[in-house]
Amino acid sequence: MNCRLYLCYVLMGLAMISCQQRKDTSASMEGDVQHERVFDKGNKISNDNFTGTAWLQMLVDADSINQNSVGSVTFEPGARTNWHSHPNGQIILALSGKGFYQEEGSPKRILKKGDAVKCPPNTPHWHGASTGEEFVQVAITSRIDGPTQWLDKVTDDTYLK
Ligand code: MN
Repeated sequence: MNCRLYLCYVLMGLAMISCQQRKDTSASMEGDVQHERVFDKGNKISNDNFTGTAWLQMLVDADSINQNSVGSVTFEPGARTNWHSHPNGQIILALSGKGFYQEEGSPKRILKKGDAVKCPPNTPHWHGASTGEEFVQVAITSRIDGPTQWLDKVTDDTYLK
């Protein structure tokens, strides 16, 4: 094989590899915002503990040794949890978009990509998307002292305040 032909094969190979890599990125267009999702969006949440549309991808189940469950939640704009509390608190990691977080008796906070929140035990709070932008969070929740206690819906007044 002559040298020039060999070089040609090598370049074709590299071009194919780079095409393949481009195909593998999980970019998805939604509205006019392009997201590179870290985790799958998962399944639409169908229980009554949320307002609006949210999606859950469970990542890690709690077991008897490591009693943390980890899940990624995608809130569509306007979607939020009901008020609720966790017996051992919760850690929320913001992955993308713009979200809200509020503990009872405190002002609402805005969450952006890279924010981390340590929610104290047995403290009523809610979290969700902002009005105009989707919000993706990972929640790490200890199950040592039992499940999440679900409370009232977050009214539009509270949500928008
Ligand atoms: Mn929570």
